[in-house]
Amino acid sequence: MKPYLKLIALLLLLIVSKPGFARLNVFACEPEWAALAKALGGDNLHIVRATTAQQDPHHIQARPSLIAKIRRADMIACTGAELEIGWLPLLLRKSSNAKIRPGALGYFMATEQVSLLDKPTSVDRSLGDIHAAGNPHIQFDPYRISKVAKAMTTRLIKLDPSHKNEYKKKGKQFLAHWQKSIQQWEKAIQPLHGKTFVAHHQGWSYLSQWLELKQIAVLEPKPGVPPTSSHLSEILAKVSDNPPDFIIYAGYQSDKAARWLANKTGKKAIAIPFSVSNDETLTQWYNGFIHLLLWEAHDL
Ligand SMILES: [Zn+2]
Repeated sequence: MKPYLKLIALLLLLIVSKPGFARLNVFACEPEWAALAKALGGDNLHIVRATTAQQDPHHIQARPSLIAKIRRADMIACTGAELEIGWLPLLLRKSSNAKIRPGALGYFMATEQVSLLDKPTSVDRSLGDIHAAGNPHIQFDPYRISKVAKAMTTRLIKLDPSHKNEYKKKGKQFLAHWQKSIQQWEKAIQPLHGKTFVAHHQGWSYLSQWLELKQIAVLEPKPGVPPTSSHLSEILAKVSDNPPDFIIYAGYQSDKAARWLANKTGKKAIAIPFSVSNDETLTQWYNGFIHLLLWEAHDL
């Protein structure tokens, strides 16, 4: 190699190995935490998403490509509360990565930062209850998202103190913008207060509480157990005199049971994206599903 090329190579090496340029590798189990990490860490983070909004986060295959990604992680940002119990423990074991073991600084679970709804008094796993630690779907409560954001900022600063000021600034900016958005959403959704719905999965408890909706039945007999014909008949009997305003299911779920009930009751079945899609921000995703609900509900 010519001497000047050597010098350039050396300079490049110095630049990329300079601590200020080292990016923190974040492995996000679900797209909403990838979007939050992006908002809070920007270019200081290299973020990979394990799943998309079109996948069921309860049931993901621990593929070798995911093991390779989690092996490089400095931090994992996941939901917790057993949402990923079928795949994350296996990925962690296979990764042999001490930085992200439970209890390590790089192990960040969103549900550990907030209180949870639907905590069962007794759990019968033989029935396939996949919400045994409480309802993990906190991404539909913007106030809980704020709490998770604050905790994530604190964690990022601990993991990467050289960028403390940037994390603090981005954290403040996110919360200010998010708070303003919450006010706008709450104003917009007032016409939905008191509306009743049937859900495919117990995935909307936080949304329902926030929007002041009323869930009257769930198509799955237990969280994670597919609807059975006997359970669906029971629901139909229950709602026939007083049908729900709409039926909600997640974008990744089969629409079969929801459409069946929609046909029987003459009500709409609405598919709501369960998380951020592609490069959407959290705000864009909230804007999207709130407008979708308002649009679908405008003639109720
Ligand atoms: Zn669930």
